[in-house]
Amino acid sequence: MGNITVRKESMADCECLAKCIFFNDRMASKPATAQILKKQYCQGNSSECARYVVFKALGGEHVPPDLYPSQKDRVEKILASARA
Ligand code: SF4
Repeated sequence: MGNITVRKESMADCECLAKCIFFNDRMASKPATAQILKKQYCQGNSSECARYVVFKALGGEHVPPDLYPSQKDRVEKILASARA
């Protein structure tokens, strides 16, 4: 058994977590999936989250309700149409 150091401070909760409708509404019916995504994005690398990227660039009102954290391929289009 080795020395496994859990560096909690490097994995901050996403600043949107409390208000993010994706997790507080849409994922309510899929708690297992929500748990996985929360660990990966919301309590892990939120800068990789598609919702977070749109939120940062345009503001929360521009984040589509159905945008999944893993759908970074949609981000460009969303940003482009918002700026058109
Ligand atoms: S889904 Fe994305 S924007 Fe929402 S709380 Fe998680 S990391 Fe933040």
